[in-house]
Amino acid sequence: MTKSRVHILVEGIVQGVGFRPFVYNLARKHGLSGWVLNDEKGVQIEVEGEKDIIQGFLSSLKASPPQARIENILTHDLPPVGDKSFEIRESERGGERSALVPPDIAICGDCLREFSDQKDRRVHYPFINCTNCGPRFTIIRDVPYDREKTTMAIFKMCSACEKEYRDPGNRRFHAEPNACPDCGPGLRLLDPAGREIAGPDPAGETRKLLKNGVVVAVKGMGGFHLAVSARNEEAVSRLRSRKYREDKPFALMARDLGVIRELCEADGEAEKLLESREAPIVVLPMKTGARVASSVAPFQNTLGMMLPYTPLHRLLFDGELDCLVMTSGNMSDEPIAYRDEEARKRLAEIADYFLFHNREIHTRCDDSVIKPFRGGTVFLRRARGYVPAPIPLARGGKSVLALGAELKNTFCLTKGSSAFVSHHIGDLENFETLKSFQEGIAHFRRFFEIEPGLVAYDLHPDYLSTRHAREIPLPRVGVQHHYAHALSVMAEHGLAGPALAVTMDGTGYGDDGTIWGGEFLEVSLQGYRRLAHIRYIPLPGGEQGIREPWRMAAVYLDRIAGEKLAGLDIPFVRELDLEKWSVLKAAVRRGINSPPCSSAGRLFDAVSALLGVRGAARYEGQAAIELEQAARRGEPGEYLFGLDEIKGILNIDPDPVIQAVVEEIRKGTDKSVISARFHNSVARVIARVAGWMRDRTGHSSLILSGGVFQNHFLLGRVFELLEGSGFSIYINRLVPANDGGISLGQAYYAMHQ
Ligand code: ZN
Ligand code: ZN
Ligand code: FE
Repeated sequence: MTKSRVHILVEGIVQGVGFRPFVYNLARKHGLSGWVLNDEKGVQIEVEGEKDIIQGFLSSLKASPPQARIENILTHDLPPVGDKSFEIRESERGGERSALVPPDIAICGDCLREFSDQKDRRVHYPFINCTNCGPRFTIIRDVPYDREKTTMAIFKMCSACEKEYRDPGNRRFHAEPNACPDCGPGLRLLDPAGREIAGPDPAGETRKLLKNGVVVAVKGMGGFHLAVSARNEEAVSRLRSRKYREDKPFALMARDLGVIRELCEADGEAEKLLESREAPIVVLPMKTGARVASSVAPFQNTLGMMLPYTPLHRLLFDGELDCLVMTSGNMSDEPIAYRDEEARKRLAEIADYFLFHNREIHTRCDDSVIKPFRGGTVFLRRARGYVPAPIPLARGGKSVLALGAELKNTFCLTKGSSAFVSHHIGDLENFETLKSFQEGIAHFRRFFEIEPGLVAYDLHPDYLSTRHAREIPLPRVGVQHHYAHALSVMAEHGLAGPALAVTMDGTGYGDDGTIWGGEFLEVSLQGYRRLAHIRYIPLPGGEQGIREPWRMAAVYLDRIAGEKLAGLDIPFVRELDLEKWSVLKAAVRRGINSPPCSSAGRLFDAVSALLGVRGAARYEGQAAIELEQAARRGEPGEYLFGLDEIKGILNIDPDPVIQAVVEEIRKGTDKSVISARFHNSVARVIARVAGWMRDRTGHSSLILSGGVFQNHFLLGRVFELLEGSGFSIYINRLVPANDGGISLGQAYYAMHQ
């Protein structure tokens, strides 16, 4: 019998996920000798034994533990050395740091059983975890992923924990955050004056407070939440006013699936997602009469729901308390608080009590937000549970750094054929966010040892990310905003083009210095050509025009009615402040602070304001979101956009649609019908122009991206209209279609330059 020996390198998310004990047990089962270890490249294995048995071992390797994600298995033959046993070796240092840092993982079934078992030494312990679950990304300071490089380093394991940690047969073998009530982190509840509430059960005290409508800041996995009972209207509205958050919906955490079923329409897929190890917030249709405080999600017919994803969160619920608002611990627009002292200061005006723990969060990370769409899902926000797992690209390229856009910022670093898109950083409008952006970039560069050779940025000269690009001593490349949206889809689907792209977006800087946002492009990795766009309209008052959709509505109305506007007998005009309007009109006519814009988002705003759905927005996209909600499902009617070819570029003219909307308002047609018909019209013109572009170019791959496509009524209609028409349609599935996906698109372009 001749022996063989094989060296195996397993690449991917294979550290901190129970991979070594899995290999150990597998090798012993097969009677192979050799060793396994973690290093910066991934998991290294050598096995020795009979050839067939090694083959069997290799194919069983693929059935790895649930949290692992194998990207590559590389093998080469070695001469046998005749070792007798199989062992797990200590991590080796040095070499290339391409070992991947795993994302944070929701509590697993095994830990949950122990957590609920009165006889278990970790019963109700808020920090129970194992190699299959618990914090990762948010507690890791450096790689390779070992306890001493995490914020758990300060806790010395007791002998019972140490024994589990050293035992290859144990579920907690090298579970880096392993802990128990004797040796691990603990909870501390502080009153409004900052005094600790003494007692054996801070979580129980917290539940009492929550039942009384008190706002508690709860330190979780990636930052603080502000928690309040979701069934208590008075408490929820108090939180709203303290947070200066007027209408933007709050996310909810429910005790169990039963509570979610009571409040929302959740199908099997949605439930699977809620219970997944990523445990994101899932946006679901709200049931009529759902028993939840009305100020949880004003003017909404959906709710963002999640399940308790850490053992600590489990402790916030009991038989009586079954649903909590769990909103990011921040003042509007600031990043989520994640350090104790910082939280005490920043949340002092919002929270009454603070539930702290002493497992430090090293990197802040918000909850991810996902929405089901046509049998799959799309991201509204990609963060906890998903980051920093790389997005695999079909083709490799050079290492680049892409800085993203201004709102909903993410950055992206690439290495080989992996794109490391950062967690949601937030709106780069204040110092705190900018700091977290810069720290995040430094962190990712160190984690994945990436030395970018090129920096990609948005063309907008005023974006903080663009200004930051100028400070980095590396070659730079500017990428047009809507082209980057299209590229983000190309990156996900491995497209090189040429292809057609429709980006329906809010606003982005055009290459002609105007504001774009309703763009029809021919795209490839080399560049793009603008084939069609929504006709330019002045954006009255710039930023003000975005916050106050009535301005857009008035400008559109002015185009179709002119001097007769004031005499139009519709509610919008009756309620229009004519004095304000005449000042605005004069400015628009003279072109003062009214840049030309071709934005789809602003068109939705205008119609929303005209219909009296929303004339002043309290958060980004509110007018358009509420217009979508107003639309009556199943309504087939539509209006017709004008199309004019000007110097080879197709201009999409909304005036006839606005005209029709005004007519319908005058006739007294219900706004749910008008909204649906407006959506149908936009979908129809997208389909028509897509056909026109295909005739001109011969391409039939069609990319749909941009924030407006988070409107699933619109996106769904476009799919319906194009079904069976020979187009291959591509949308964002792995990064958001909003500006959170821009960095991936920028990177995909830069890495191929
Ligand atoms: Zn576990
Ligand atoms: Zn212990
Ligand atoms: Fe955008």
